[in-house]
Amino acid sequence: MKVRTNLCHSGRGDQTQEVRPVNAPVMRASTILFQNYDTWQKYRELRKDHRVLSYGARGTATNFELEKLVTELEDGYRAQLFPTGLAALAMVLLNYAKSGTHFIVSDAIYGPVRTVVDQFLKKVDVEVSYCKADCSDLEVLIRPNTTLLLCESPGSILYEIIDLPKVSKIAHDHGLIVAIDNTYSSGLLFNPLKHGADISVIAATKYLSGHSDVTMGVVVCNEKAWKGFSVLPEALGFTVSPDDAYLVLRGMRTLPIRLKEHEVSTDAVVDFLVTRPEIKTVFYPKLKTHPGHEVFKRDYQGTNGMVTIEFADGYTKEDAIKFSDALELFACGASWGGYESLATVTTPPRTASDWSKRGPFVRFHIGLEDPIDLIEDLGQALDQISKEKGKAPERSTK
Ligand SMILES: *Cc1c(COP(=O)(O)O)cnc(C)c1O
Repeated sequence: MKVRTNLCHSGRGDQTQEVRPVNAPVMRASTILFQNYDTWQKYRELRKDHRVLSYGARGTATNFELEKLVTELEDGYRAQLFPTGLAALAMVLLNYAKSGTHFIVSDAIYGPVRTVVDQFLKKVDVEVSYCKADCSDLEVLIRPNTTLLLCESPGSILYEIIDLPKVSKIAHDHGLIVAIDNTYSSGLLFNPLKHGADISVIAATKYLSGHSDVTMGVVVCNEKAWKGFSVLPEALGFTVSPDDAYLVLRGMRTLPIRLKEHEVSTDAVVDFLVTRPEIKTVFYPKLKTHPGHEVFKRDYQGTNGMVTIEFADGYTKEDAIKFSDALELFACGASWGGYESLATVTTPPRTASDWSKRGPFVRFHIGLEDPIDLIEDLGQALDQISKEKGKAPERSTK
């Protein structure tokens, strides 16, 4: 079955009933009841390896359907749901944190992960090195006590590309677990577990839910990683509401068509942005000039709605703020993956490379509005700041 068909047919609960709703119903529960003591014990045993009802916080039927659908999407062995994408990433770090060990985190990792490194891992005596965003310096950073690589591709804000099959091979040769944040690709544009990773993390808050009304994270493991991962998240009481699980299931039914529309519109917006003299660099993996473009073409099915610009020399952060405030259809807000367009003035947090002399940067999420309107809006906002700078907005022929 093709992915798109599976996203319509799987994760819908018991479809063998003679009369049934299309969707798996929301099952809300804290207490689960058992016929008798023996049944209770049987299910406590079963839950070690299977998704069965045993206790509300361990998930209900709605959560299980979502875990199943995401596991299939990512071609994994099992998945675990978390209240946010950040909690899912933090759990990966926490799970392998053992005093005296060393982790490698790629430079383009989702920014708030750095706080987990600074505020938690350091305290429990786990050392962390940041490798380059494309992991090209991984091998020289590996030490005898390195146990985990956590990376992200395309990277947050600048979309750096990792050659995952190559990087995973190096990591595995040294006995590391390979975990990757796959939020950008949302299980559709790229499947890390098929390209060598052991763990894929997706912030379902973004495209999986797709409507800016729910937060959730998913960790999908291969069989090897699941054996070492499954115990701690439940022991720590991580769970998600069945209502939220329902919303993410609902979002996933339309994930392929939404993502395609985001891509088509973003292509059009990028075609426009590269012609503007106010902009020095457009960060978008489909551009031939984008670092890692060849690997992207080889391994990825496409792009999403994310694109970042760097203004031309002479433009300041204040100009970038004026520009973003002058936009009428792009809202100012973090997070992304909904149907709405966003623009955020930002600085890429990086340790292994120096971006302090670059910028200013604005990151866009291209929503599902008509791209003609979005381009017109971008044009008028760019005109405003270039006019204020006394530079006529002449068209380049690039
Ligand atoms: C947003 C995001 C997260 C975190 O998701 P939340 O649910 O907001 O915590 C993790 N990784 C990436 C790449 C993200 O963009």
